[in-house]
Amino acid sequence: MFTPEIVDLPDVWPACRRTQCRSAAAVARVDALYGPVVVTCENGHFRAYRKKSDFRRGARYAGLFSEAAVAADPSRDGGERLLEPTGRRRAEVLEDADRCALCRTPPAEHPFRPDLDLQGDRELWIWLQRWRPSVYAQLREAVVIAGQRERITFANWRSSITPRLREILVRELSDSALETDHLVPVERLAQLVGVLAPRELAFAVNRLLLAVCRSCNDARRLERRSREDYLRDYVRALHGGDERVARADAAAWRMMESIASHAARVRLATDERSA
Ligand SMILES: [Zn+2]
Ligand SMILES: [Zn+2]
Repeated sequence: MFTPEIVDLPDVWPACRRTQCRSAAAVARVDALYGPVVVTCENGHFRAYRKKSDFRRGARYAGLFSEAAVAADPSRDGGERLLEPTGRRRAEVLEDADRCALCRTPPAEHPFRPDLDLQGDRELWIWLQRWRPSVYAQLREAVVIAGQRERITFANWRSSITPRLREILVRELSDSALETDHLVPVERLAQLVGVLAPRELAFAVNRLLLAVCRSCNDARRLERRSREDYLRDYVRALHGGDERVARADAAAWRMMESIASHAARVRLATDERSA
């Protein structure tokens, strides 16, 4: 039986980007025999993944976890391999995506397709108006107020708004960055190695690999999700939100139902803290 472990990371981290958290601490946790180390802020907000090898002898974080938590025995490495998509799958998923599979927001900068990046301030404002209406409203208001003192143009609006609002803008843009992750997040999927049938696991690792924005990916890690949540994400991310289309591939739907049921039952050490 595997015992989860949680440790503090020694170095200072950038302030947590979750609103009103700003924690500069980082906590690493090993929840499962397989899969990466998950790093959160002290309040449980997702920060990053780290490879288990970073915590083994001679590496940067050696000695923080017990040997057992990060041991590199052959059977375990086999398990970790099972969670990694085949070949170029991650790059393909990103290349094919022009927006987040969950919230549909197009990224401000695309990792592989510079032609899709926001070009200039005019496009940036249109993007904000469409995808971040409340930030756009704040920006409009700030510019109207500044416009009572001086003439505001696309050349000087950035210097006319407060540093706080500039910071919000920068964060919204960087949170729109696309990342690849599994529909069932990898730390939960790691708990299902040996539980799911091999073809179900392969389906979850390769077919259910999504391009999602950082903002959606962080948010969904904060909560435990139900079977229905996973099925809803599946319909939305892979079938344009149409459940009839999703059910039309009956074999895939049955596999998805099984994966969703199992994933909803996974308990991680941090679930109680973030509940
Ligand atoms: Zn935080
Ligand atoms: Zn999103």
